Amino acid sequence: MINEYQIRVTPDVAAQEDRLKRFLGDEYGLNPGDINGVRILKRSIDARQRQIFVNLKVRAYVNELPKDDEYVHTEYPNVEGKPQVIVVGAGPGGLFAALRLIELGLRPIVLERGKNVHDRKKDLAAISRTQQVDAESNYCFGEGGAGAYSDGKLYTRSKKRGNTDKILNVFCQHGASTAILADAHPHIGTDRLPKVIEAMRNTIINCGGEVHFQTRMTRLIMGTANEVVGVEAVNSNPQSSMFNVQSEFRGPVILATGHSARDVYRYLAEAKIEIEAKGIAIGVRLEHPSQLIDQIQYHNKQGRGRWLPAAEYSMVTQVDGRGVYSFCMCPGGFVIPAATDKEQIVVNGMSPANRGTAWSNSGMVVEVRPEDLDSGNHNCKLSTVNSPLKVLHFQEQLEKMCWQQGNMKQTAPAQRMADFVNGKLSYDLPKSSYAPGLISSPLHFWLPKMISSRLQQGFKAFGRSAHGFLTNEAVMIAVETRTSSPVRIIRDKETLQHVHVQGLFPCGEGAGYAGGIVSAGVDGERCAEAAASYVEQFKN
Ligand SMILES: Cc1cc2nc3c(=O)[nH]c(=O)nc-3n(C[C@H](O)[C@H](O)[C@H](O)COP(=O)(O)OP(=O)(O)OC[C@H]3O[C@@H](n4cnc5c(N)ncnc54)[C@H](O)[C@@H]3O)c2cc1C
Repeated sequence: MINEYQIRVTPDVAAQEDRLKRFLGDEYGLNPGDINGVRILKRSIDARQRQIFVNLKVRAYVNELPKDDEYVHTEYPNVEGKPQVIVVGAGPGGLFAALRLIELGLRPIVLERGKNVHDRKKDLAAISRTQQVDAESNYCFGEGGAGAYSDGKLYTRSKKRGNTDKILNVFCQHGASTAILADAHPHIGTDRLPKVIEAMRNTIINCGGEVHFQTRMTRLIMGTANEVVGVEAVNSNPQSSMFNVQSEFRGPVILATGHSARDVYRYLAEAKIEIEAKGIAIGVRLEHPSQLIDQIQYHNKQGRGRWLPAAEYSMVTQVDGRGVYSFCMCPGGFVIPAATDKEQIVVNGMSPANRGTAWSNSGMVVEVRPEDLDSGNHNCKLSTVNSPLKVLHFQEQLEKMCWQQGNMKQTAPAQRMADFVNGKLSYDLPKSSYAPGLISSPLHFWLPKMISSRLQQGFKAFGRSAHGFLTNEAVMIAVETRTSSPVRIIRDKETLQHVHVQGLFPCGEGAGYAGGIVSAGVDGERCAEAAASYVEQFKN
C-alpha cells in the first residue's frame, strides 16, 4: 500500500525517518515496522510562532518497497545531422534552450565567451588574491553563466508550475539532489552546481550538439530579408592557435547572453536592433552574523538548534513610491565580488549546500525606474539623453565610483548598518565573508540620494518589524547593481522572435524575460520551442 499524508510535525521529527514512521503509526494507526520508507514530497517551515513546525507532504510505503521514481526522466535523442540552432551563452537560459532543442530533434551549437565551469573556478579564486577581474571569466561569464557560482536557489515567482517542475526534474537528472523537488524553497548550493552543469554539457555533446568555450559572439549575420542567419564569433583563448580568429556559425540564433554582456547591448544599439531601457534595483549586500538572523527568525536566543536550517528572511516596504526590499537572500553564505571588468566593484551573494558559514546576507535594494534617471535626483554625472542604454550607463558609473571608493581594488566600501542609518562613518567594521576585504566608507554620503535615503528609511521599517535586525553587528557592502537586466531586447509575444528581426530569439535574463535560474531555464525552453517552429517553416 502506498499512501500520501499531509502532516505538521516538529523539526526533530521532520528530520528523522524513524521518528516520521512512528508519527505516522500513531496518527494513522499503522505499524511503524510495516512502513518500508517515507519519501518527503513537499516541505516548508512554519516559523511564525515560537513553536516552529514543519509542514510535510509525505508518501509512505507500507509493506511495499520504495519505488525508484524520484524524478521525471527526459529522453534526449541523437541529433547529429539535424538542422542546427545557434545558442549564444551557456547560462541557465542557454543550457536549457540547448537541451530542449535536442528533445525537439534539433542540433544546438552553444557558444560561450567564458571558460568551462572547472577552469573558471581558478579565475574566481584569483579575484581575491590579485584584486583583478578577468573580463571574460568571472562570476557572470563562463559555463553555467551567472547561475554556476550562484547561490542556486531554485524558486521563482512564476505561476507556471508545470514549466518550473520540468526545470527541477532536469536538474535532478543531471545530479542535483531530489530534495529540490520537495522543498518549498529549493536550493542546490554553489559547491554542487558545477557538477550538475558539467553533466548538462555532457548530455549536449553526447547527443551530437557542440559547445565552444572562450568563443565570443561579436556580431549577428543578416540574410537578405533582414533575418538572422548566424553569428560571427572570435576565439578569446590566448593559449589557442585560433586566438583572435573569427569564425562563422550558421543557423537561427537564441541570444542568451545574460545581464552583464554590455558589449552585446552596445552592439545591438549600434546595429539598430531595437532595445529599450528597463528598470532595475540597486543597493548593497547586507551581512549579519547568521546566528543573529536565526535568533530573530526562529524567536529563540539559542539560534536554530540541531534540526533547523540557517534561517531565511524576506523584507519589503515602499518608500517614496519605490520598492525597497531584500533580494537573493543567502543564509549561511558568502558575499562575493561579481564584477565583469576591471574598474568596477559589484557585490552579490551565494551559499554552499549546507548553508553553514557564520554569516547570512541579502541584497538590500531600491527599485530604480528609467524615468528616475532623468530627474537629476542622483549624484552620478550621467547624460540625460533618452537612450535605451541609460540605466546601463547609470549602473556602470556607480560601479566605477564604488571601485574608486574602494581604493581602486576589489576591496569593497562598507559601513555598519546602524551607522549608515544615523549618517555616521564606521570607525571599524565587523568580520565579513567578503574575501577581497572591506574598507570603511560613508555610503550614506556618496550613494545616490534616491537610493541611500530610501535604504535608510527601509532599514528603520525592517528594524521595527524584526526586532534586532537593525544593528551595528550588520555590515552593508557596496554596491549591488546586477539584480536584473538594465535593457530589454524587444520580442514578439507569440513567436518570441525579435520584434523586427526574424530568426533572432532574445532569451533569458539578459533579454529582460527572466530574473533567476529557474525562470531563465523556463524561458530557454520556450525559446527553443519557438526556434523549432521557425526551423519547421523552412522544411517544406
Ligand atoms: C552570485 C550570484 C548569485 C545568484 N544567485 C541566484 C540564486 O540563488 N537563484 C537564482 O534564481 N538566481 C541567482 N542568480 C541569478 C541567476 O544566476 C541569473 O538569473 C541566471 O543565471 C540568468 O541566466 P541566463 O542564462 O539568462 O544568463 P547568464 O546566467 O548570465 O548567462 C549568460 C551567459 O552568456 C555568456 N555570454 C555573454 N556574452 C556572450 C557573447 N558575446 N558570446 C558568447 N557568450 C556570451 C556569458 O559568459 C554567460 O555565461 C545569481 C547570480 C549571481 C551572479
